[in-house]
Amino acid sequence: MLVETKEKALIGVIGGSGIYDLPGLEKVREVKIYTPYGAPSDNIIIGELKGKTIAFLPRHGRGHKIPPHRINYRANIWALKALGVKWVIAFSAVGSLREDYKPGDFVLPDQFIDMTKGVRGFTFFEGGIVGHVSCADPFCEHLRQVILEAASQVPEIKIHPKGTYVCIEGPRFSTRAESRVWKEVFKADIIGMTLVPEVNLACEAEMCYATVSMVTDYDVWAEKPVTAEEVVKTMGENTVKAKKLLPKIIERLPEKPDEKLCSCCRSLETALV
Ligand SMILES: [Zn+2]
Repeated sequence: MLVETKEKALIGVIGGSGIYDLPGLEKVREVKIYTPYGAPSDNIIIGELKGKTIAFLPRHGRGHKIPPHRINYRANIWALKALGVKWVIAFSAVGSLREDYKPGDFVLPDQFIDMTKGVRGFTFFEGGIVGHVSCADPFCEHLRQVILEAASQVPEIKIHPKGTYVCIEGPRFSTRAESRVWKEVFKADIIGMTLVPEVNLACEAEMCYATVSMVTDYDVWAEKPVTAEEVVKTMGENTVKAKKLLPKIIERLPEKPDEKLCSCCRSLETALV
């Protein structure tokens, strides 16, 4: 089902707000990938990091041109799959719904709640083949553990190993009433606009996916007004930390995918009707 390209990479990195390039990449080249869903957010940057080939895609495009609800998630995941990507490490900026998940902290979500409004292309299974992939545990547990271990090696990173990410449609932020619902009724921990359907599509494509969520501010429930300047400052600091974390993750990933480590690569075995 995939267009073959000469370039290959086992590791895919999706950069969120603030992450549009990866310093330290060697032998950098850029590929344009055509998909049945149209163009990905940007050309894919291929390069070597810690001796491994990685494919990097800025989710919003370089220069942050594409808002969350207009991202072509299917083209992005398709393009990475076409390159042979097995592991997807995604970065995203989020708001916190808890006092103890502070601006500047990182969170490794283990669950999500989808509050998008269905205008996004959220599946590869549009008919012909009907597929219902399991989403009970939407993130790759093996990759999550690798990221946690890597984060423990970067002293300035405080990472929360679990969290429920509520994904809203955007591009507007929540009302105070909505924010209280996510926090008090849904018991979600962080809020963002881009996880869904990226995670679902990665699962349908039998890839291992985990996301590092970087807290920029408290959502509006906290009644702690923040200035754009403060958010930009925190986002800048988070970006520096993320760029320190990534090589530590890359060096811990196995040389080759190993089906014994997780079941993500077999997510279609029981999904097809
Ligand atoms: Zn996996």
